[in-house]
Amino acid sequence: MALFVYNTLTHQKEEFKPLKDKVVNMYVCGVTPYDEVHLGHARCYVAFDVIRRYLEYSDYTVNYVQNFTDIDDKIIKRAQEVQIDPLALAQKNIEEYFKDINALNIKKAKAYPKVTENIAEIIKIIDNLVNKGYAYAVDGDVYYRVAKFQKYGALSKRDVSQLKSGARVEIDERKEDPLDFALWKKEKPGEPSWPSPWGSGRPGWHIECSAMSLHELKTATLDIHGGGQDLIFPHHENEIAQSEGSTGKLFAKYWLHNGFVTINKEKMSKSLGNFFTLKQIYQKHSPAAVRLFLISQHYRSPIDYSEDKITEAAKGLDKFQNVLENMREMVNQINLDAIGKKFTAAPEICQQMEDKFTAAMDDDFNTAEALAVLFEMTNAINIEMEQKELDLVKLSYMSRTLVRLGQVLGLFAPGSALRTAEDKLKGKNISVPEVERLLARREEYRRQKKWAESDQVRDELLAKGIILEDTAHGTRWKVKE
Ligand SMILES: [Zn+2]
Repeated sequence: MALFVYNTLTHQKEEFKPLKDKVVNMYVCGVTPYDEVHLGHARCYVAFDVIRRYLEYSDYTVNYVQNFTDIDDKIIKRAQEVQIDPLALAQKNIEEYFKDINALNIKKAKAYPKVTENIAEIIKIIDNLVNKGYAYAVDGDVYYRVAKFQKYGALSKRDVSQLKSGARVEIDERKEDPLDFALWKKEKPGEPSWPSPWGSGRPGWHIECSAMSLHELKTATLDIHGGGQDLIFPHHENEIAQSEGSTGKLFAKYWLHNGFVTINKEKMSKSLGNFFTLKQIYQKHSPAAVRLFLISQHYRSPIDYSEDKITEAAKGLDKFQNVLENMREMVNQINLDAIGKKFTAAPEICQQMEDKFTAAMDDDFNTAEALAVLFEMTNAINIEMEQKELDLVKLSYMSRTLVRLGQVLGLFAPGSALRTAEDKLKGKNISVPEVERLLARREEYRRQKKWAESDQVRDELLAKGIILEDTAHGTRWKVKE
């Protein structure tokens, strides 16, 4: 089986073949840290984290770089509103970004370059574009000469003449052409600025990604460039014009874009008041449930957020946790020496599940289907646990396969999949020793065939939110949802 990815540049699914065998250079546009991280950001970074994890599972070495636009109009505006230094505002929000995003079990990037730390690299590429005739300076500003770049509009499938008539509305006399965009912006009073060959100023938005991807990954051509669909035009179109104008080489082989988040079927926006930051969501839901919700749809499709859907995701997560916790309890009870003697090969079902999982993921990272395979595996483990004659070796292989594949989706962060009995009882009006004491008492009644008394204990536990399950292999308890 081979991996196929949907490439925005060619508008089709293509077999994934990086430039160098088994190495993937991957760049994803990061945030402009002027405010808190919201659900739309989480969707993007979870999507590309899954893509990265799956490539690593498929034996690729992935060099993942993601930037911070730590100086920008929005940051300057917000900093003026709250009266702090723009760079301090950006730094504070970057720290908050990591707190919110790390909770989603997103792997660390190889580098997180910032604009303010790469001014020299940015000036170098602008200078190169000016020298090659792709850019021109006007009174302290530098613009990209769009007419000089033949392929402009290829990524977003836009026609330059149509773009021009749209852009004429806000004509700027100093530009040669309404489509030309700023690479360097002349200093304005009270704004941070850096010296350059064209006078003091700061970079335009788009140029940073061209400069920093080249600087951090040391390659003119990226294997994967990623970002949200809203960045295709103009941001990614402009990145291509800048990078290819400067290096003369293809900028990125595969362009991958994730879909939007809608809230109750409406576009998420601050003005509609249906805007959720991760901090707001974490007050009610676990980050693991948020992650499971985000991967429950294919990354290119829009995903609709609602209370019902996130609750459903939390229940799904419970299913995984219950089966793994039951397994743990079982493993604690068994005699490992006895098992060692009849050690067998991995059961066929493990390979079958893994094949189905990779078939789903090889089809442009179809996490919705991959997740369905994990639920199927969970059901199979539950059925296996109900067998009279337990095959503990088989069970152990099955649960290990579930955990390993779940980790490819970033679902089971080390230590997060298994809750302790104390974790499960958080917020309940009963302690672990009390549950155990009642269970032992009920066991005693059952042994003496005192069914009424035994049922009374069951009801007492139920009243406190504890459900008992009598299985062929003893009684298990779980917390009522
Ligand atoms: Zn970018």
